[in-house]
Amino acid sequence: MPKYVNCSLCGLNRTQIIQEAEEPFKVVKCRNCGLVYTNPQPERGLIEEHYQEEYYREWMEKQMEKRIPMWKKRLKEITQYKNKGHLLDVGCGIGTFLKLAKEEGFGISGTEISEYASRYVKENLRIDVLRGDIEELDFPPESFDVLTMWHTLEHLPNPKAALKEINRILKREGLLVIATPNLNNFITRVLYFLAKGKKLKLFSDRAKELHLYHFSIHTLASMLKETGFRIIKIDMDLAQLAFPKKILDYLTFIVHAITRKNFGEAIKIYAVKA
Ligand SMILES: [Zn+2]
Repeated sequence: MPKYVNCSLCGLNRTQIIQEAEEPFKVVKCRNCGLVYTNPQPERGLIEEHYQEEYYREWMEKQMEKRIPMWKKRLKEITQYKNKGHLLDVGCGIGTFLKLAKEEGFGISGTEISEYASRYVKENLRIDVLRGDIEELDFPPESFDVLTMWHTLEHLPNPKAALKEINRILKREGLLVIATPNLNNFITRVLYFLAKGKKLKLFSDRAKELHLYHFSIHTLASMLKETGFRIIKIDMDLAQLAFPKKILDYLTFIVHAITRKNFGEAIKIYAVKA
């Protein structure tokens, strides 16, 4: 059964509907803190089934090689803050980032809920991946120097609970890097409307990605502060690889240069355990 949840950020249940999706799903905004989320959430089994071989096949056939420069750039930025220690990638998918981090000299671990992806990483990359939600995996306190979540947080049933646990298992001054879609992605929305003649949906149970949360810089920063993090950098996650989507990144970059605001596709935040 789909599950109704209270606001992950403030705990209240006072919402307004901002988008209708397929019954019974709706995208709602918390009237108290402004967090936008999908309510009810699809049941766990449906989410796990969604991220099986078919979901990853397209990445692996068409995108894996092309995405390596993007992963290298993300890793290089991290090494400006931390260039050694143990790195945990939460929601590591097929493990491309972990493989590069290992080559860079990091000790590495990964977590993943997808049965297919976790098996792929174990068998093909010989990297140990734990399957399950971060709150359930029970890592010892202060285990990691760096923790990354590349477009993972928006998929979690309770992101605030996950961030609390992440704070517990990070070392003091440990680095957390989160990339997530940007709720205020006005550039994408305008281009999408011009191209397709309809509004971009935040959630559809038929979409490739099942996003349970839709963060703005403001709500993500609030959640990080409330879970014991100090934000050190707010950036854009420019990850579009090819034309025509690459235009999005150029526009995001230009608009940011002029307005200092991120209206692009994704947010990237660096924070440390306070
Ligand atoms: Zn709230």
